[in-house]
Amino acid sequence: MGEAKNRGTFEQRRKEAIMQGRGQPQVQLTEKDTIEIKCKPCGGELFDMAYRLRTFPALSPKNPTGKDQLVKIETHICRGCGHEFGKSFFQDGKADE
Ligand SMILES: [Zn+2]
Repeated sequence: MGEAKNRGTFEQRRKEAIMQGRGQPQVQLTEKDTIEIKCKPCGGELFDMAYRLRTFPALSPKNPTGKDQLVKIETHICRGCGHEFGKSFFQDGKADE
């Protein structure tokens, strides 16, 4: 009985950890499990990784360092047409399509 109770607690902790993005089980992905993302404007399938550079200014009340901080935002550029994915990172946390 005590054993079952402990297991329940462990399960709950594991679920909480997964919900918080920790302790996620490793999933072996194959090509079939994934869906290809194509560039909307041109249908391109190849993307270069790029960074948008921003400054987190010293004047921001959220900046604990009191110094300007460089912020790199990873984004992807279509090789075919230059369309950028992920522009709306700060607006809704989702990448553009
Ligand atoms: Zn494109």
